Amino acid sequence: MHFQSDAATEAFRDGVRRHLADVLTPDVEQRIYRSGVAHDDDFAKGLVDRGYFAPSWPAELGGQNRNAWEEQALNEELMRTDAPVYLSETTRMVAAIIRDVGTPAMKDRILGGAMTGDITIALGFTEPECGSDVAAAATRAVRDGDEWVVNGSKMFTTNGHIADYIFLLARTSPDKPKHKGLTMFLVPTDSAGFEAQAVWTLSGERTNITFYSDVRIGDEWRVGDVDAGWQVLALSLQDEHASGWGPHIARLLQHAEAWATAAPATGDAPRIANPDVRRRIARVALELEVAMLLQRRCVWMTENGRAPIAEGPMSKVFSTEALVRASQDIVELVGPDAVRSVFEPTAPEHGRFEHLMRFSLGTTIYAGTSEVQRTIIAQRGLGLPR
Ligand SMILES: Cc1cc2nc3c(=O)[nH]c(=O)nc-3n(C[C@H](O)[C@H](O)[C@H](O)COP(=O)(O)OP(=O)(O)OC[C@H]3O[C@@H](n4cnc5c(N)ncnc54)[C@H](O)[C@@H]3O)c2cc1C
Repeated sequence: MHFQSDAATEAFRDGVRRHLADVLTPDVEQRIYRSGVAHDDDFAKGLVDRGYFAPSWPAELGGQNRNAWEEQALNEELMRTDAPVYLSETTRMVAAIIRDVGTPAMKDRILGGAMTGDITIALGFTEPECGSDVAAAATRAVRDGDEWVVNGSKMFTTNGHIADYIFLLARTSPDKPKHKGLTMFLVPTDSAGFEAQAVWTLSGERTNITFYSDVRIGDEWRVGDVDAGWQVLALSLQDEHASGWGPHIARLLQHAEAWATAAPATGDAPRIANPDVRRRIARVALELEVAMLLQRRCVWMTENGRAPIAEGPMSKVFSTEALVRASQDIVELVGPDAVRSVFEPTAPEHGRFEHLMRFSLGTTIYAGTSEVQRTIIAQRGLGLPR
């Protein structure tokens, strides 16, 4: 396994860093922070123009044939700068599935637009009554000639209010066992009967509850075979479960270091002279190191043709729980000032400490909760019984 990236990867990373430093201006950051929407059209177009949208895709499909380490470097930089990429990520994830199982007509309609940033896709899996047990989805799609009629609701359809399509999990055969009666669809969000209502999370992020009331879509919007939705969904869940969140710890560490080394107005020694400050910052650095090693191990396994079935969840659980621990520790270190928000001009590090603490909690929930990830590790990694 690599412990250091090679020169070509680091050169690619430098290019990404320069681009992000150019485009993620304080104004853009403020706009995203205030709106709670992790998407910005201009920023997303900029990624496309620079070849950063799907760099590992083949050139003939609009990619750059980049290897997994370059893609990892890009993802690390995007996360470390808290770039507004969630809608680009979900679009790319669904585009990869369409590439695998979509009909030629669907590929024609979707892939080109997705690769140029003109088509965006949000995920509609979770429902008000089921999230972890996503196979219990109750949203119905009933066949009517060449069309399907969709009725139901989806919870946490992040970016559902701005996306062009929802990648929707729907029940098509209620009489079959729950995993076997599901089908995936792309629902155009301009369909009659579709509605998105805002839901605000603890971190200030805007997500949505989306409603489907007699939404009619043609059979051409089906993704994969009828009742084969679980297999199609598994392709995207595996991607999500293998995620690592270490670069957010790097972001926290940068802010903590800046706070600790700033010269106090009083003329006292910088805070870093205090052993407790050094101890806590070193602890964050340690958490970051372990999180990054776990994440890079998943990349290494994938590169070597091995699926990180338990290692992906290990990376996800460790990095997100470490982010929770580390951000709480730094808030405690900084003291009451740390909970002042970005809306206060003199808040330390522009209010990032309190925001990271709130943000960290959600990371242990989406893309599979820590409890669900631990079950995967126990059953599929250690071979323990259900
Ligand atoms: C900010 C945010 C954005 C999101 N974006 C999207 C999105 O774009 N699209 C989308 O479809 N979904 C999205 N989600 C939904 C997310 O994937 C779910 O919240 C998550 O899967 C958990 O489901 P739930 O909220 O229904 O909780 P539940 O599944 O009801 O879980 C509640 C608690 O019970 C525990 N639990 C549940 N089952 C088990 C079990 N078998 N064993 C042990 N413990 C268990 C859980 O770990 C959790 O602690 C988002 C969520 C958040 C918070």
